[in-house]
Parts: sequence; C-alpha cells; structure tokens
Amino acid sequence: MDKNVRICIVGGGPAGLSAGMYLEQKGYENYTILERLDRVGGKCWSPTYNGRRYEMGAIMGVPSYYAVHDVEEFCGITHDGPKLNRNYKNKEGKVIEPFEPKKNILKIPRLLRMKKQVKKLGELLETKYKGYDLNGHRGVAEGRYEGFSQASAKREPVKGENPNLKDLCLPFKEFCKLNGVDLIQDIWIGPFTSFGYGYFDEIPAAYVLKYLDFQTCMNFVKINLWTWKNGTQYIWEQLNDHLKHPARLNSKIEKVERKDGKVFVTVNGAVEEYDKIIVTAPLYIPNKRTDGQVGMVDYFDAREDEKALFSKIDYERYDVLAVETKPEDHPEISYYVFENMTPETMGHLMVYYRRWKDTKDQVITTYALRKHKGTPEIPYEACKKTVLEDLKIMKNPASNVVNEWSVYYFPHVFSEDYAAGWYDKVEAMQGKYDTFYAGEIMSFGDMDETAEYSRELVERFF
Ligand SMILES: Cc1cc2nc3c(=O)[nH]c(=O)nc-3n(C[C@H](O)[C@H](O)[C@H](O)COP(=O)(O)OP(=O)(O)OC[C@H]3O[C@@H](n4cnc5c(N)ncnc54)[C@H](O)[C@@H]3O)c2cc1C
Repeated sequence: MDKNVRICIVGGGPAGLSAGMYLEQKGYENYTILERLDRVGGKCWSPTYNGRRYEMGAIMGVPSYYAVHDVEEFCGITHDGPKLNRNYKNKEGKVIEPFEPKKNILKIPRLLRMKKQVKKLGELLETKYKGYDLNGHRGVAEGRYEGFSQASAKREPVKGENPNLKDLCLPFKEFCKLNGVDLIQDIWIGPFTSFGYGYFDEIPAAYVLKYLDFQTCMNFVKINLWTWKNGTQYIWEQLNDHLKHPARLNSKIEKVERKDGKVFVTVNGAVEEYDKIIVTAPLYIPNKRTDGQVGMVDYFDAREDEKALFSKIDYERYDVLAVETKPEDHPEISYYVFENMTPETMGHLMVYYRRWKDTKDQVITTYALRKHKGTPEIPYEACKKTVLEDLKIMKNPASNVVNEWSVYYFPHVFSEDYAAGWYDKVEAMQGKYDTFYAGEIMSFGDMDETAEYSRELVERFF
C-alpha cells in the first residue's frame, strides 16, 4: 500500500493507539486517531484518589503480553505497579482456602482429580488443539489456524489444518465435558467470570482459551502478573504522547460515508477526507446505553453484510464500583467469592480489589455481572444495591461510593454464530469498503489481545 495513504482510526483505546504505533513503525505516518472522550485509554481508566491512581478498568497483564511490551519499549516505561495478591471467601463472608488440601481433607480426592485434569488439558492443548492460541479467530470454525505464533515475542507466521479446532466453537462448559476436564473450570473461572467475561455455559471455548491459554492461566495461578503504578491508563497516555500524531480528543463523529474509493468522515461538524478507515470502537450495540455510545452501524453508511453480521454481537453487563471504607473496615487483601460466579448468583459481588497494601485511605473496587444469555438483565441499581449489601456480609462495608461504571464490555458472538463462520466472514470483509475492523470483538477483550490484533492487521494489510 502507498505509504502516504490517509488513514482514519476510530477510537483512542489500546487497539486504536497501538494501530497508530505499528503503522508509524512501518512507515505510514499519515494517520489520524479520533477519540470521542476527553481522555485516551478506553477501558484502561485509572482515575486519581488521595494522590494515587486506582483502576476502574483494566488492572493487570502477564509476561506474555508481547504487544503491551512493545508499547512499553516504544515509550521507555515498565510495569512498576503494586504486587497483586488475593484470598478467598464464601458467600457468607468466611475466609476459605479452596485449593489447600491440608485445610480441606474431604476435598482431597477432588483436588487430586483437578490437578490431573489440568495436566491433561495442558497436553490436549499442545496436541489435539494445536494452533488454538493464535490471536484472533481466523479459520477456527473451519478447522484451520492462521496467524502469528504467540509462543515468543518474535510471533512467527504459522498456518495449518486442525479439524479438532472446531470444538472451540462449543460453550466452554461443553468443551470441558467433551474432553473429560470438567474440574478445570474451578480454576479457569477465577480470571474469567469474575473478570466479567461471562459464564462458561454461554461463552464459546475459543474466547476462554485464546485469552486464558495454558501459560497465561498458570501465570494467574502463580500470581506472576504485571501492574502499573500509575494505572493501565498511563500505558496508553504514554503511547499517545510518543506518537507523531496523538489522538484528537472530544471528536464526535457524526457520519462516515464511503464512496469512490474515499472515506468521508464528518467530525465535530466538518467533513474530513481519508483513503482508509480502521474501526476499533464498538461495531454494534444491541440496546440504548446511557453513556451515549452507539455502534459503528449507526453512524456509518453501513452495508447489508456489515449490518447482518454485526447485529449478532452481544456484550457483557459488567459493573465496577469504587468505594471508600472506614479504616477498620478495609479488607486486608483482595478477595474472590467463587460462589457468586454462577448464573444463579448473578448480580452479586464476585471479586473486590485492594490495590494499595501500604495504606487504608484508598478506594477498593468491586465487580459484578448482571446478564446471562437467555435470562433477563438485572437492572443496574438493583445490582449496585446487592453488591453494597454483599460488602457488608463480607465485613468490609462501604462508607461511600466514589465512582461507578457500567461498561460496554467484552463484545462477542455466541456458539451458533461462531460455528457458522462469523469470524471468517468478517475477516473476508477486511479492506472491502476501504474499512478495517479491529478492537476487542476481533480478538478478545483484554489490552494485549486487542493491541496484538492491531499489530497483525497492520502486518497483513499495510
Ligand atoms: C473493569 C475492567 C477490567 C479489565 N481488566 C483487564 C485486565 O486486568 N487486563 C487486561 O488486559 N484487560 C482488562 N480489561 C479489558 C481492556 O481494558 C480492554 O479489552 C481494552 O481496553 C480494549 O481496548 P480497545 O481499544 O479495543 O477498546 P476500548 O478500550 O474500549 O477503547 C475504545 C475507544 O474507542 C472510543 N470510542 C467509542 N466510540 C467512539 C466513536 N464513535 N468515535 C470515537 N471514539 C470512540 C472509546 O471512547 C474508547 O476510548 C478490563 C476492562 C474493564 C472494563
């Protein structure tokens, strides 16, 4: 492609900013990033409280976050945040140690079986499901893999046939049953459901295992995790500062028209002309949101194939509260409440995070899900009330709510559409209408998968 091509990037989150970085590194400098808000970072939102930054969005990374590491190197920063740690409570607020055989003598047989199944899954992923852990979803529904190896920072191109990969279209619960590894869900659920990515009986295994590939899950188990002192937002603020063309904030895109090989973008009342457009913002939002966010199909001259495919996208209703407590009520550590991570206990507190160990004058953040496929959504206020009640049960009552966020979270398609080749159809549309689709839906809802997808998009098409 001509290096002077004029590229518009919609969205100044990890996907949009890293698209800018990778384009720049490849010699494409004629790009413009349009961000609707007055800040960059998207779901990496780290506000300040009592002089320190806390996390309303993304919190952590793992050592295989190669794209995030590219960004760190580009900006000369590193993961210098407080060490993560956690403990467990039951839903009555009692501290428990679910994985400690000595404290759970009756559970020893189950724990031993679980250990065996973890090993078995590790082997299956290496052999039967070879190619499962590539970024993005190209070929999976057709029993192929195609992309760049995530085994090392080099990301060598790889490609092959593997009909077993079609099993990844199944909901994760069914995938585990099929492979005789049901008990591994007790481990995978921690960094999956409580992190807002939905329930295992509804979410295709592909999403679960591409994000929580075997190594990544073991890093969670061993708490081999990265955080950033100034918050995850700082990564993207730094990147924005180091780009030749930082994102244009407060950009309200009213209309996008694609005609005669050009892309006309009406932003803040003026029409701008580009040659290509990369969309990292939501493609489709099935309901009306109070934050005013809409899907790309609502402001683009969306074509029939775009509308038909993107209308299959759903997202999670995931709520975050930042609360103050009295010093005597502050939790000594972060807690997971596994019993609240089931569809039956939807709307309850699943995890709460104490970020700063050295002080009690900081907020803690709470996390709850309030939607499950096929059941009515729990209203926002009802869920908030339940979570605040749960904090009392946990003996860490909140004295005040200082921030709250119900975020457009983890866009995905369900098994039927995944198996019907949703991803291959959308991938085949890349570049058609001078438009490229990136961001969470194309890979997975975490910082690294989205930044990595942008890297690969630039590698493949520019
Ligand atoms: C509570 C929470 C916890 C999380 N924890 C982690 C974690 O620990 N580790 C991890 O890796 N990830 C985590 N994530 C997920 C991670 O933050 C996201 O996956 C990542 O930010 C996605 O990047 P993105 O650029 O694709 O989308 P986003 O971050 O959503 O960015 C999209 C950007 O597009 C902008 N935009 C939207 N519409 C328009 C428009 N019409 N015009 C212009 N701009 C527009 C938005 O304002 C936003 O800035 C978490 C997220 C949340 C909310």
